[in-house]
Amino acid sequence: MINPRTEVSRRRLLRTGPAIAGALMLAASAPVPQPRRPRYTTAPRPATPQQPVKPAPARTPAVPVLKRPVFTLRDYRRVVPGPAFPGDAVALTIDDGPHPLWTPKILRLLQKHHVPALFCMIGNQVLGHEAVARDVVRDGHLVANHTWSHPVRMSRLPQAKVHRELDRAQNKIYDTTGQAPALFRSPGGDWSPGLLAGAAKARMVPLDWSDDPRDWSRPGVPAITRRLLAARPGQILLCHDGGGDRSQTYAALRTVIPALKARGYRFVALHQPGAQPTKTQKG
Ligand SMILES: [Zn+2]
Repeated sequence: MINPRTEVSRRRLLRTGPAIAGALMLAASAPVPQPRRPRYTTAPRPATPQQPVKPAPARTPAVPVLKRPVFTLRDYRRVVPGPAFPGDAVALTIDDGPHPLWTPKILRLLQKHHVPALFCMIGNQVLGHEAVARDVVRDGHLVANHTWSHPVRMSRLPQAKVHRELDRAQNKIYDTTGQAPALFRSPGGDWSPGLLAGAAKARMVPLDWSDDPRDWSRPGVPAITRRLLAARPGQILLCHDGGGDRSQTYAALRTVIPALKARGYRFVALHQPGAQPTKTQKG
């Protein structure tokens, strides 16, 4: 989803970040209505025999306001402490689901090749596809918050709307899967200093990507395959299981995953900030 022009404007925006972030911090000191505390951070209600209550997750660690999101595994490691990723590591991220048709197909493919992935879920897609969302977590994958409604210009939303988008998705994902995401991906990779501050306030690490095959635009299986095969170690790859017909993405991944593994690349799992990473998953 990156084209050169938006990339340039994005970088310009990031360069101007500190000044704007400072202004935002000043603005933030004005009295504002206190947002409702997210449900997943409050103490669980007393359990009743009819309604067992999930334990509240451990509070994720504070996240500093970053000047730019995480683009690569090296960036990730700078923000989320842990052992260095292997030199031949890549990470696969899958956005816009869960989807009742494409998510299960992709899950089976990942399982076949023992590949972990990060699923960036949209809250209103979890709604109605709860079992699919649970299957993602059951298979051992990590879930990121990808907003409630996937706004087109996320970077321009006022803070209160940013908070609502993140909070509503967070509650839905946690209530459904028991996993409280600590990673946040902005729709379309649309970031701003205000949004980066909003992510930090919600204790979420802002995560972008470094290899975009533009599979969402359905450019054809060969184009998606070619772009993904051009991946280099240390990159975070972007694909989609939601948002429309993902037959091209699925077909490309069927070729790309075994091909990258044959090249010696290792698909690594991103772990939750604050959680102990499990042993390196060999892809
Ligand atoms: Zn998206």
